[in-house]
Amino acid sequence: MSIEHVIKRIAIFGSTGSIGIQALEVIQSNPDKFSVEILTAFSNDELLVQQAKKFKPNIVVIGDEKKYKAVQDALSSEDIKVFAGENALEEVAGMDCYDLMLAAIVGFAGLKPTLKAISTGKAIALANKETLVVAGDIVMNMAVENRVPVIPVDSEHSAIFQCLVGETRNRIEKVILTASGGPFLGRKTNYLVNVKREHALQHPNWRMGAKISIDSATLMNKGLEMIEAKFLFNLDPDQIQVVIHPQSIIHSMVQFEDGSIKAQMGMPDMKLPIQYALAFPKRIANDFPRYNFRKVHTLTFEDPDLRTFRNLALAMDALNKGGNLPCVMNAANELAVFAFLRNRIGFLEITDVIEKTMEKVSFIEEPTLEEYFDSDGEARNYAADIMKL
Ligand code: NAD
Ligand code: MG
Repeated sequence: MSIEHVIKRIAIFGSTGSIGIQALEVIQSNPDKFSVEILTAFSNDELLVQQAKKFKPNIVVIGDEKKYKAVQDALSSEDIKVFAGENALEEVAGMDCYDLMLAAIVGFAGLKPTLKAISTGKAIALANKETLVVAGDIVMNMAVENRVPVIPVDSEHSAIFQCLVGETRNRIEKVILTASGGPFLGRKTNYLVNVKREHALQHPNWRMGAKISIDSATLMNKGLEMIEAKFLFNLDPDQIQVVIHPQSIIHSMVQFEDGSIKAQMGMPDMKLPIQYALAFPKRIANDFPRYNFRKVHTLTFEDPDLRTFRNLALAMDALNKGGNLPCVMNAANELAVFAFLRNRIGFLEITDVIEKTMEKVSFIEEPTLEEYFDSDGEARNYAADIMKL
């Protein structure tokens, strides 16, 4: 057998989510290239069991311990080990049965398993942007120490990564992150004050999990992505620009020292960056829809409205000040989005909660990992108090 045909063994952390499901579709289409070794979910035991029966991993983990027995019973006739709980997620991430982790858990919960995977030398395909927002310096330093590649799945960062192939010796002048603008592009505060979760969940170009859909509606997603870009590509804050591009055809751009700009383009379909990250450095032929220049003639660009979408302004502040501020912001945002999704607070209150929490939690310039965890906890407690959760 030639080296070309070595199968990459994949662990999908967060397999029942939007990214996880699409990753399994990619893997299913390429059985000669990938095998599934680990699948994890938080609470959707039925889908996890269904996926396990189909893809026959070594191990499954269900985060919610109350669901352990249901998963164990359903898989009793299969040769699959079943674990449950938060600690199991971390332990399993350290096991030697796989080569690459697709980090597709949403939020802060993805940090520990990802750190464990890096410390044990696994390659990372990173969808979980919150991991870098919370502790990007620690995560990337650990990746360098362990010679572990961190390959972005987020479409913008995949675009930048693809633009940088072959450019290792050339300095980046700036990166231009494109943003669709979300479902409320062009709207003002007087409109936003009344929007409900159902409106906010309707993204014009992408179908995604609930949390990132709300983040896209508030533009916090783009703020998280600026911070993600800083750590992934080792950039200064002023090298990162956001431009609204409602068609979502240019996924992001890199401008080099000579003024040349490279863009990566394609249809808005997460399967492409997922496949690229799993197969890197190779590209795999597929039949995903192609962009047709004869059909979409107009690509437009505009500045983001920072006065209306204040979450993006807050994220820029966190990006500039650094330290534990992005971690604090992320924690407040996670909790506020959770509350909004349960109709406990209004859309614009999300921003108020984040702003107050960022003012309240004490600033730490160079936090240790433990201090990041403490900052996260403190921010969550404070945000919960404000919202009376
Ligand atoms: P999702 O909500 O659809 O899925 C999240 C997954 O994480 C599920 O499998 C869930 O079981 C698991 N999970 C949730 N909370 C958990 C916890 N506390 N412990 C363990 N597991 C837990 O989310 P998604 O849209 O697939 O997004 C996943 C990540 O990828 C996010 O960080 C998101 O920002 C990023 N991302 C998503 C997209 C997209 O198109 N969906 C695009 C770019 C980046
Ligand atoms: Mg993105």
